[in-house]
Amino acid sequence: MSDGDATGVDRVVVALDVGGTGMKCALVRPDGVAIHTERHPTDAARGPAAVIGTILDVAEGLADKARADGLAPVAVGIAVPGVVDEARGVAVWSANVGFRDVPLRDLAGARLGLPTALGHDVRVGGLAEARLGAGCGAGHVLFVAIGTGIAAAHVVDGVAALGAHGAAGEIGHIMVRPDGPRCGCGRPGCLEAVASASAVGRRYAELAGGSTDGAVTAAQVAERAAAGEPLAGRVWQEAVEALADGLATGQALFDVATIVLGGGLAQAGDGLLDPLRTALHERMTFHREPRLVAAALGDEAGCLGAALLALDAMGVRDHQERR
Ligand SMILES: [Zn+2]
Repeated sequence: MSDGDATGVDRVVVALDVGGTGMKCALVRPDGVAIHTERHPTDAARGPAAVIGTILDVAEGLADKARADGLAPVAVGIAVPGVVDEARGVAVWSANVGFRDVPLRDLAGARLGLPTALGHDVRVGGLAEARLGAGCGAGHVLFVAIGTGIAAAHVVDGVAALGAHGAAGEIGHIMVRPDGPRCGCGRPGCLEAVASASAVGRRYAELAGGSTDGAVTAAQVAERAAAGEPLAGRVWQEAVEALADGLATGQALFDVATIVLGGGLAQAGDGLLDPLRTALHERMTFHREPRLVAAALGDEAGCLGAALLALDAMGVRDHQERR
């Protein structure tokens, strides 16, 4: 396998994963290996124009760094949260970065003079986990990111489904508890209103009443549950049961081989995976049970996925999928 171009210079992709607080950035080889990484604050409070300026500056800086190192930057991949129109390369809407209809693909393409792809952060994270990480070799993968919200990517043979309107994978808005708390989307009882990391912390504080001083994180609830605290155990089990309901619906729709769990809540590891496997098993009737595993790429998944998306757009798929 050669990563070189016609002149023998090694090719790299400039990759950025833009989040609400920080940007993870890298130079990624066509085989999916990051050979240089950088982090920069997003500082979204400056407003979208300033954030866009930083994205373009950082991307250009990475391309310059590649050339200075004797590498050939051949494409740019950018991942952003919110609603993304991948076909048009537009960041349609993002609450935590402040984007509204930003033609980020064309802006970056014009600035760097390189083919550019724009993707949704969870969807490209799923792409990376399916092709390079915990879902490798599974063929049909559902990647579920459980953090402030819950979103998923359905990846089939290394390609993430976009949906007709770019909104596939909104598993966080499956209704699992009709009488449950109201979701940010306006409906009651959505999965992310019951089982996201923020929902778990909120629920614990609500049941503990005045007996907690300040916010309790989902990670702390997980720790307290593991240590045998009854209230934490109850809150954790409620979240597990709701997640199992959501994943069972996902399995009925997609029949995947592997479900990869990422995001903050998945850092509880076996404290989440073990009871969730049991709860999911109880819900399987004729459906085949998926393998349930923790994500392997950590917070680099979005950046690596952005690079894969850019390579895909160029028709380059050099990395070996470990089947
Ligand atoms: Zn909702």
